[in-house]
Order: sequence, then C-alpha cells, then structure tokens
Amino acid sequence: MTNKELQFNKLSSEVVSSVEQGSFPHGVLVECQNENDGVEFARFIANCLVCRSNNKPCGECEDCHKAKKNGHPDIFETDGVIKSKSKIFAVDSVREIRDDAFVLPNESDSKVYILKNAQNMNDQAQNAILKILEEPPSYVFFIIVTTSRSTMLETVLSRVQTYSLLSDEEQITDKECDAVKNFVKALLNVNELALVEQTAVFIKNNQFAKRVLGLLSEVFRDALVFKSGYSREVRFSEEVNALYNKLTAKSLMQLVEVCDELMDSIDRNCNNNLLVVRMCYEFKRAIGR
Ligand SMILES: [Zn+2]
Repeated sequence: MTNKELQFNKLSSEVVSSVEQGSFPHGVLVECQNENDGVEFARFIANCLVCRSNNKPCGECEDCHKAKKNGHPDIFETDGVIKSKSKIFAVDSVREIRDDAFVLPNESDSKVYILKNAQNMNDQAQNAILKILEEPPSYVFFIIVTTSRSTMLETVLSRVQTYSLLSDEEQITDKECDAVKNFVKALLNVNELALVEQTAVFIKNNQFAKRVLGLLSEVFRDALVFKSGYSREVRFSEEVNALYNKLTAKSLMQLVEVCDELMDSIDRNCNNNLLVVRMCYEFKRAIGR
C-alpha cells in the first residue's frame, strides 16, 4: 500500500467513527494536492453521512447505492463557477447554496454540500460561506475541498475541521504560510524595513528558511506561468495574482533564480546576517529597485 493510500485509510476510519458517534462536524476542509483525490475523499464522507445503516458506509442500502453512482438527491457538488469562462467560485453560488441549505433533505437525514476548488473562492465568497458555517441547520454538512488551507480565511478555518491528504512535505504550516504572505507583501510594497524584518524571521532556522524559499520560488514560478497565458491551480493564489499584476516576467524569472541561489547558500552554511543583507539586495535588484 502506498503512503497516500495509508493516509486515506487512516482519515477514512476517523471519519467513519466520528459519523457513527454522531459527532461529525458540520464544516470540514479537505486539503489535497490533486483535486480528484480531494473530491473522492469528500464523496466518501458524504456517503457516510447519508448512509442510514449502523455500519457506515454499508454499501448496500439505497442511500449508499445512490451515493456510489453520484446520484444521491441530498449530496450536492459544485465548483461555484457561474460563467464557463471564469474559474472563480462565485459569491452568488454560495448564496444559492445558503438558501438551499434551509430546505429539508429529500430522502436522507442529512444534506451534504461538496464545495470543490475552494481555492478559487475570494474573500467575499468565503465570508458568505462563513455566515452559514456559524449556524448551520442541524442536518447540513459542508465539505470544502481546496489545494491548501492557506487559501482560506482564518475565520473560516476556525469553523472547520481539516482533513489533509497532503504528505508532510506538501503541507504548509501556519508559520510558513505567514512567512510567505508577509514576505510577498513587503516585496510588492518595496518596504525595505519590512523586507529585512520578514527575511530575518525565516532565516534563523536553516530548514525553515529553505522551506520558505522553496515556497516563494513556487509562488514566483506560478506567477510566471500566469504571465505566459496559462492558468492552473495554485497555492497562495492571492499572492500569485498580485505578483502577476505588478511584476514583469523578467523580474519574476530573476526572483526564481535568487531563491534557488539562496537555497544553495544556506546549504553552504553562510553567515545568517550576511545572508539577510544579500537576500534583500538580490530581491530588490530582481524587481528593479
Ligand atoms: Zn448504507
């Protein structure tokens, strides 16, 4: 069995026991690198929630049969896209879901909403979902599928339980997430003091610094990909979009190179203070300041 399968099984049994005990939370977040894995797991949860047998999911009751065929009338899946051209999870879709949630279930005792590609929700859409997460009808469950918890607002995160399908390598800790966000902000504002401060934050610990630089490199690369006219699922979508809007492809390419170079320097155990100075210099040069 692969590590991924093992993790899937472990999380599945957590879900089953929590559903069977009747303590399953009304809001959960499924974090996954691959959309299909996340949706598959969300469907498994939904199946457990609608199954009315004691042994969930029994796979034999009518609810299970319908859920298996993705045709259960109380399981809803949406990526919130309204116009086919945009991949944004529209706030209007969230409002529609909110209204629908107050209608009693058709057949089952529960009603489950699977919100796919939630990394494409802007703050407005997230705030709309937050309203119902705060006081959901007793029979309603939301499963929010996203590429990274870093794409969700703190207020939303505080209302949901996270099931992460990401490996330890792929998971981003809150500290790493903050370091990346704050750094990009300082860089785009060309706030020299903030830039030094933010760099000093993550340089203290070599392992941490390399993780953050790796993530920054990923963010710069993603913005570069956007520049070439492609769009794809990204972590840190807000930061990637801001960089895409404000910097040239040339700057972005230089920023990627600077990150790679700095990761090498860390491996060579350079003096940290000198490294902070050099980092800020290189980053500023890359954006033409
Ligand atoms: Zn069943």
